[in-house]
Amino acid sequence: MTKLKDKIALVTGASKGIGASIAIHLAKEGAKVVVNYASSNSDAEKVVRTIINEGGTAIALKGDVSKQADVDRLFRETQMAFGRLDILVNNAGVFQYLPIEELTEASFHKQFNINVLGSILSIQKAVQAFEAKGGGVIVNISSEASKLPLPTGSIYSASKAALDAITVSLSKELSGRNIRINSILPGVVDTVGSRQAGFIGTKAEKDMISKTPLGRTGQPEDIAKVAVFLASDQANWINGQKISVTGGIFGL
Ligand code: NAP
Repeated sequence: MTKLKDKIALVTGASKGIGASIAIHLAKEGAKVVVNYASSNSDAEKVVRTIINEGGTAIALKGDVSKQADVDRLFRETQMAFGRLDILVNNAGVFQYLPIEELTEASFHKQFNINVLGSILSIQKAVQAFEAKGGGVIVNISSEASKLPLPTGSIYSASKAALDAITVSLSKELSGRNIRINSILPGVVDTVGSRQAGFIGTKAEKDMISKTPLGRTGQPEDIAKVAVFLASDQANWINGQKISVTGGIFGL
């Protein structure tokens, strides 16, 4: 498997869930991968070990994407380890489902700072790194909730709609620099995050499955395979798109 042979990829929030699966699938295709995490060092090291045990190359680097100094260090350490960057996957994200009465400044800033500002800060550094070597690819992990917001998910949905707007805007702004950027919009995926949010093993999951023509909950690898495709040259004519990866979910 060599679709991404010798490419250097950075996946934010890759210590678990969708990000971990993306890191592992990029490495299976030959990419050397930076597994970023915020706090879960042992989970990130587990992902690195999985990749190395399968014959790949990976390192774990800590950094909170919502903090400029952390992002600067993350990209500096990536350059030091691998000498360049070809692929950025903006996966780090948080979701908090709260009724309007319980929304706070803190919940707004947490979701927007990580989901939106974190992506912007990472893209700024990636664009610098890409320009040094003549181009690159960005994949933003958005959410179907940007198009089909659920009740109590107003801030989260707004943050992912903002990320989609960033994808489209930058696909135009970065034209002529050989940089492609796309959003993947997953439906519900079985991860630590979605379990903590109460989406798995509950009535909410049953309701979602009943509205999913393919009749099941998404798994991290369903998303990871699409991220690999978008990062590869097979997608070299896909730019500025918001791609739903949901089993066809409708009308939440
Ligand atoms: P998850 O299981 O909760 O894992 C979140 C990952 O993000 C962890 O690796 C975590 O690192 C990292 N992270 C959190 N805050 C961070 C920060 N400030 N800086 C760097 N990394 C940070 O999440 P998930 O369910 O896999 O979701 C991943 C992405 O997919 C998110 O953007 C989410 O919005 C999107 N998404 C998820 C679903 C779903 O149903 N699961 C559906 C649609 C979209 P630590 O472990 O170190 O904290």
